[in-house]
Amino acid sequence: MAAGKPLGKRTARWLRRNPLGLSTDVIVESRESIDFPGLCVVCGKDVSGTSVRLRGNPVGFHGMLPWIIQRTKPLIVPAHRSCGRVLWLTVLWRNMSLLVLATAGVALALWLEWSRWQALGLVTGLVAVPILWHVFCPVAFEFTFKGGRFVLSFRDHELAVKVAEMNEGVVEEDVNRCR
Ligand SMILES: [Zn+2]
Repeated sequence: MAAGKPLGKRTARWLRRNPLGLSTDVIVESRESIDFPGLCVVCGKDVSGTSVRLRGNPVGFHGMLPWIIQRTKPLIVPAHRSCGRVLWLTVLWRNMSLLVLATAGVALALWLEWSRWQALGLVTGLVAVPILWHVFCPVAFEFTFKGGRFVLSFRDHELAVKVAEMNEGVVEEDVNRCR
């Protein structure tokens, strides 16, 4: 590893942007859409006007159906086509794995005639893996929208702050963040 210095600098910058790999949430109230700087939300590079249309994540268990039939809030987001596709597939895989594991846990508990608490323990154990993966390896960008309120989740802290400034949003500083 001859070029130790640049790698060290890159790692330091990444750690500064992603301490513990946790994401930064931005809350934006009373807006129909969100303004972004002209940078890809996934790779951070210039997008030259390219954007992708993303759908909001489900809010609560009852939000699953609107999400499955693609009726959650759409948002136009600056991203390269390939970056947007990877982002969409990653969110899809994560959400579907949660849904499938939770359903499988309930079905198995019913089949084994377990008590409610045993069933809850099983489902919690099964969904813990995708949830922990999401917490420590957050996707570059995702959002929810409910009651006129956007919750935008960014892997890049600096981008989150920039978007908050552009939309009069509030950055929800994570308690684990050390600065
Ligand atoms: Zn990109």
